[in-house]
Amino acid sequence: MSIFNSNTLREVAQQFGTPAWVYDAATIRHQIRQLRDFDVIRFAQKACSNTHILRLMREEGVMVDAVSAGEIERSLAAGYSNIEQSESIVFTADIIDRETVELVVQHHIPVNIGSIDMLHRIAEKAPRHPIWIRVNPGFGHGHSEKTNTGGANSKHGITLDDLPQAITLIQQYGLDLIGIHMHIGSGSDLEHLSQACNAMVEIVKFANVDIRAISTGGGLPAPYLINDEKLDTSIFFRLWDEARRDIENHLGHAIKLEVEPGRFLVANAGVLLSEIHCLKSTQQHHFVLVDAGFNDLLRPSMYGSYHKIEVIHQDVNYKPVRSMAAPLNYAVAGPLCESGDVFTQDANGVICHQTLDNPRVGDLLVFNDAGGYGASMSSNYNSRPLAPEILMDDGHYRLIRKRQQISDLLALEVL
Ligand SMILES: *Cc1c(COP(=O)(O)O)cnc(C)c1O
Repeated sequence: MSIFNSNTLREVAQQFGTPAWVYDAATIRHQIRQLRDFDVIRFAQKACSNTHILRLMREEGVMVDAVSAGEIERSLAAGYSNIEQSESIVFTADIIDRETVELVVQHHIPVNIGSIDMLHRIAEKAPRHPIWIRVNPGFGHGHSEKTNTGGANSKHGITLDDLPQAITLIQQYGLDLIGIHMHIGSGSDLEHLSQACNAMVEIVKFANVDIRAISTGGGLPAPYLINDEKLDTSIFFRLWDEARRDIENHLGHAIKLEVEPGRFLVANAGVLLSEIHCLKSTQQHHFVLVDAGFNDLLRPSMYGSYHKIEVIHQDVNYKPVRSMAAPLNYAVAGPLCESGDVFTQDANGVICHQTLDNPRVGDLLVFNDAGGYGASMSSNYNSRPLAPEILMDDGHYRLIRKRQQISDLLALEVL
């Protein structure tokens, strides 16, 4: 089931302890290859921002999107440089603080602007700075309302109403407009993604300015359930390529087509490994309690997301035996002092179940498809240190982030 075999996961757990994140480089490279038709693949690093993952992306010719000063520093640490390769890092946000303005100017990092206020702030400091405009096309779509990033309920991007004013200001300041960007949501589907290409053509015509590139944004779905459809990337490219050609005809010259996936590149490439510490039953549920919580993997608590869960038996010779007495369906929960710390719940917080094969205390439990918005959304809630990250490449695994120590947390409070 898992992308890793059981022995590997047992070894990793033994060597690095649990909970732990494990990634597979080959799966990431496979995902990258599916998008090679695009002129630029720009990884939205917030999905999985470890510098070793960024280095892997860079070696594959993938560029990077940063949404904070911290993510810019991560890109630089991973060897990205806009001086060596222009535009290899882009900064996307709806606000920009003064330190981040300094950082983008110093490192020649184009800014994908999501608000008129940002435009003033950048122009004050660097009136010729390269920028993108992130447009909110008036509609959006995501796997959850919380990941829908377009439409009237979204805080993101320049609305169509504000677009003429943004263009006028860009021209008055002399800012260098690279292109128009649109990210309608995370975990969308082909129908909505293609709605976005038609909107892009209309918006470029409406904006009535010259540009060198367009960006589709991210949102490309990754399968979580067995029956989830895989995105047909050739159809996705064809639709956007047609939009690009329409825009080229309109402008009278060639433009570049960028795609900006996060989840698509990493979600299916990582797992969260945990150990079972307790089994207990109530009148409603058979609970399996593990040593990972929503401070590690937030998605189920935040969105009711599904992650396929699997048992790796401690006993290497374990053979499934179907005892009539043993329960089949379990609720899986973590150690946090919070009743919402349950990995099997729907979007309304109702506890549901997954079928597990004879879980026992001491067995490992694997949360699959946790490579995107997994480690990068972790927190220190309940004063729990961040779990280590391990990268499997070419038959070898290595530690790419140490386990955080509790002393690291306390150190910040020594004043
Ligand atoms: C989050 C984000 C992405 C990536 O979204 P995915 O659904 O992970 O592909 C792309 N672009 C921007 C601007 C984002 O904020």
